[in-house]
Order: sequence, then structure tokens, then C-alpha cells
Amino acid sequence: MEFKDLEVWFVTGAQLLYGGDAVVAVNAHSTEIVKGLNAAGTLPVKVVFKGTVNSSAEVSKTFSEANNDPKCIGIITWMHTFSPAKMWIQGLKDYKKPLLHLHTQFNKEIPWAEIDMDFMNLNQSAHGDREFGHMVSRMRKNRKVVVGHWSDAKVQAKIAVWQRVAAAWADAQGMIIVRFGDNMNNVAVTDGDKLEAELRLGYHNDYYGVGDLVAFQDKVTEADVDALVAEYEKEYIFADDCKKGAKNHGQVREAAREEIALRRFLKDKGAKAFTTNFNALHGLNQLPGLACQRLMAEGYGFGAEGDWKTAALLRTMWVMAKGLPGGTSFLEDYTYHFDGEQSAILQSHMLEVSPEITTQKPRLEVHPLGIGGKADPARLVFTAHAGTGVAATIVDMGNRFRMIVNNVDVIEPKAALPKLPVASALWIPQPNLEIGAAAWILAGGTHHTSFSYALTNEFLEDYADIAGIELITIDKDTTINKFKFELKVNEVFYLLNKALQ
Ligand code: MN
Repeated sequence: MEFKDLEVWFVTGAQLLYGGDAVVAVNAHSTEIVKGLNAAGTLPVKVVFKGTVNSSAEVSKTFSEANNDPKCIGIITWMHTFSPAKMWIQGLKDYKKPLLHLHTQFNKEIPWAEIDMDFMNLNQSAHGDREFGHMVSRMRKNRKVVVGHWSDAKVQAKIAVWQRVAAAWADAQGMIIVRFGDNMNNVAVTDGDKLEAELRLGYHNDYYGVGDLVAFQDKVTEADVDALVAEYEKEYIFADDCKKGAKNHGQVREAAREEIALRRFLKDKGAKAFTTNFNALHGLNQLPGLACQRLMAEGYGFGAEGDWKTAALLRTMWVMAKGLPGGTSFLEDYTYHFDGEQSAILQSHMLEVSPEITTQKPRLEVHPLGIGGKADPARLVFTAHAGTGVAATIVDMGNRFRMIVNNVDVIEPKAALPKLPVASALWIPQPNLEIGAAAWILAGGTHHTSFSYALTNEFLEDYADIAGIELITIDKDTTINKFKFELKVNEVFYLLNKALQ
């Protein structure tokens, strides 16, 4: 999945009422806008001008081509002149990909001295786009509306966010999630309706026994292991007992063997995400912690204990964030530090935290796990750097999927954690722990999250709109009273929405 192989189509709306000269001018202006957007250098996906549509047949033809072209991840529409919106109905009805309505106009300013009726008739996006918007709203179709002059960096930034989300959406359609074992027994929040998830979100779950992975592990040679351990030596600080010749070096080699097997397995299946379960490790030496950490940093989605929804969301957020500063990781709420307004949550996991979220050189260590009954696993140990990010999850509410997003401020630990043998992040959920955690719990949020420094709420809002799922945001303005009201309103909205479908 490379942004450079994808396209976003730009479709201009007009009508033939204004004559041939107008058509020529509309095409020329659209071409220049598209050229300007591409030249800005801030859009990750190239914009391709697909011409001006002047009739229902032309709209239908273009939208149907977009549906069928795998390179096309979405359409940007813009009404240069008045484009009577009945002509958009059939095309919009059939259109299945993300839509962005760019409410702009060619000229930035009114040419005060020159403006005449001809100019006004040609440059009437201000009302043409309202006519188009009415029909999209009437059809209850989600789309992103971006308002402003196309040369404005703020406008381009909003288009760039949507492009990243549209790319991640395309990437998620038919996404294969490999699950070794099932969800951890008795755990509720990591489970859910896999059929609805495939219909609604594109996630395809495939089950494998760990024995299938062991068959790959058996084919890993000592030379393969030598090469990967040499890579570890370059990238990480080895604990003394993990160095060559020391007592735990053998466990590092076993971890490398598992990583090679896992990567080959995922490639073989064409998978983009995977889950493990510490209860299902037959034939493996240790819980594959180091492997999960490194595979996450390569872009594989991961969820522990069979958490396929988090695995898939992590992959999706990684794709959105591709090439942006910051990192993305699986995390779990562990332990609180109660300290008034500075009260914080220590985020960690048994082993599996992506090294993308630290600026430190990770330490490679081996310690007992005390769960799963296997040999001591290798892991990367580090602390996440300070910064603001988003923690997100998708839960199954029975009649719908709900995405919950919490803005969080990662802070430096109050002191060193010399005896904690895993990676961690310390964060304060916005607006504070008291309200943030209460809201998260009221919304039914998971203990696992997909976290990213690189993304903002706008990305996840675009995603929820494209997916057509509920979005609940917990941020600096959240109050419990209003939050409870929002949950109740949503409950009614989604019940009625389902009944109307
Ligand atoms: Mn867990």
C-alpha cells in the first residue's frame, strides 16, 4: 500500500446552460486548481482531474468508473457554476467510495472594478455548491465538506487528512486479519460480530492454529537467525545477560526465530494484521513479544489476546499516519498515578508496545513473564516520549460499532522505573483522569487502545464518517453531564437509523 500508487479524482459540476465558452473556462480553471493542489507538495495522494460533468449520464459514468478503478480511493466534487443537483442523484446513489465536497472558487478575491454579470454567472460556487450539498444531505450520504480557497494551506491540510483516511479505508477493505487462537476466554470487549465487521468495516478474520505458525518456524535456519540477531545488535542496547555467550542469549535467538516465522506467515497469507493469545502457544518457546513490537513498527496491525478489532484499527491508523512524525502503537491501560489534576495512567502491555512511540534507543531484555507457562520472552524496553496524541477504539454495542476517541497528553514518568521490564507510556486523558476515564467507561471503551502521536481527531472523524459508524469523542471540553446526554441521543439515533434502513 503506497500513497504514490493511488489517485483521488476531481470532478467539477456545471451545466450547459451557459454555452461553450463557459465549458472551456470551467475546464481550464479546474485544471489549474488540480495542478495547484498537486504542486503544493502537502497532499500524499495525487489528484486527477476527470473533467466537468454537465448531465446525469456524465455523473453516473464518472462515479461508476471510480467505483471500479482500484487506484481511485475517493472523489472530490466542486460546482464551478450552478449544477442542478437532480443530475447527481443516480451517480451518488451508486457511488461507494469516500466523498469530499470542496467548497471553493477559482478566484480568491472579487475583482471589484471588473466584475460584471458574465463573471458572476461563471463564478457561482457559493450557490452551486449549496444546491449540490442539499442533494447529498437529502440522500443522507456522509462526506467531508471543506470550505476555503484552494490555494490556502489550511484547506489543503484538510484535504490531505481526508486523503490519508480514504487510503486507510481502501486498505482496510478485505483486510486479512490472522488470528492465532481465539479471543482470550471470557473476555467481552475484545469480541464482537465478525460478519458485521466485514460488511461494515471491511475486516476479514481468518483463524489459524499455532501449529500452522510452528510449521513456518521449523523452516527458519540458524543463518536466518544469525542475520536478524545482528540487526537487533545494531538497533538496540542489549542487557548484559542477553549478549552473545550470556545466559539469555538463547532466548533472544528464539525470539528472532519466531519473528522470522511470523513475518513469513503473514506475507504468505497476505495479512495486514494479526492477533496472538498467550493461552495458545503450543510449539513456541515464548510469547512472541519482540516480534509483535517490531512487526507493529513495520505497519502490521496487532491486538493481544485475540483482539482483532484493535489489530485492524491499529493497521488503519498506521496507514493514515504513514510518513508523518510521531508513532502509532497498541497499548493497554494498566496502573493509575493519582495526583489531582496531574493524575495519569501508566500504559503498557505484557510485552507488545511498538518502538515507534519512543525517541530512546530501546533496551533488549529477557525476563520471566509469569503467565502462559512458557520460557522467558525477549522484549524491547523503553519509555514513550512526551507529546499529545489520540487513543482510539472500536467496540461492538450489539446494534452498531462505536468508535471512541480520547485526546491524551503523554508526560514524562515522575521517576525512573528500574524494575519495570516492559515498554510504557504515562498519559493524562483529556480533560483530566476523573472525567476522561469516567466518560471512557460510560461509553463502554476497551482496556486496549490504538494510540498515535501523528493523528488528530479530524482523521478519526473522517474515518467514522466514511465507515458510517458512531463516533464519541472525549476531549478538553468534555463534561460528564453532556457526555451522558450524547450517549442517550446516539442510542435513539442509531435505533431509528437501523429501523429506517
Ligand atoms: Mn491485554
